[in-house]
Amino acid sequence: MCLAAAVAGCGGTGGGGAVPSAAAARTGASAVADRGAPRPPAAPLVLPGPARAEEETSGEAAARKAQAARAVLETAARWGLARPPLPAPPPPASRPELVAAQGVKLANGLPPVVYRVPTDERIVFLTVDDGAEKDPEFGRMAAELGVPLSTFVADYLARSDYGYFRNLAAQGDAVNNHTINHRNLKVLGYGTQREEICRQQDQLEEQIGVRPRLFRPPYGEYNEDTLRAAGSCGVEAVPLWNEEAFPDRMEYRYEDQRLHPGDIILTHFRGPDLWPGTMPDLLRKVVDEVTAQGFALARLDDYL
Ligand SMILES: [Zn+2]
Repeated sequence: MCLAAAVAGCGGTGGGGAVPSAAAARTGASAVADRGAPRPPAAPLVLPGPARAEEETSGEAAARKAQAARAVLETAARWGLARPPLPAPPPPASRPELVAAQGVKLANGLPPVVYRVPTDERIVFLTVDDGAEKDPEFGRMAAELGVPLSTFVADYLARSDYGYFRNLAAQGDAVNNHTINHRNLKVLGYGTQREEICRQQDQLEEQIGVRPRLFRPPYGEYNEDTLRAAGSCGVEAVPLWNEEAFPDRMEYRYEDQRLHPGDIILTHFRGPDLWPGTMPDLLRKVVDEVTAQGFALARLDDYL
């Protein structure tokens, strides 16, 4: 709360340092007193009119904030979380340029391969692959908790219902490329690899309405042909992963068995026929683990 806001714009959005003197002059003597001169020793117990109006507004804002906090707690409890997810910081204004670092493989003219996004923020990214299990509860839970997803979809699994992925895209989740047939690209020639990747670029553009910028090779298996083929049809980066999540556990690549800033977590669209739980069970496990380690889930596509 800044009672001098009307005068100097403190806490406001504008200003940029230079307070126009004409504006200061219009507000009169009290304004001048607020701007730098020592305050009177005893502030009045009852604030003057305009300030009191601002005070009431702040009270209402505080009430709204408290109500929002209660809603967040209720939402987290309803989905069975130990505690609400930590809010992610605002995304960068533009995607940071990737430099060679641990977790980033750069090669001239090819899309970078990224296991971990270079960042100092305590954020990690959840990526969901393949597309077999199309559980609407999963999308609803992610949206209600404010957890952003980056999905990597293989056509042979998704094509029975692209509408499911359109709904995810409509709520702000990204639908990215995971090839047509989910084959091990490494054993295929350049032409076949290009078919697998670039046809799925076209298919997703047609089905979802957005041409993917990110591509993940099935099984994380790739060679230089893969990157060349991907780059040739508009892929800008190839995110892999450092952790894999299941409904009952997380598996860590590194011995410290911890998350690190910028880590990419892999999981799959799978149902109870394939692993011990539902998609909401899976998301609960991920969010609880991420929150317990003091991280927030951010949107991979804002950073890569
Ligand atoms: Zn896959």
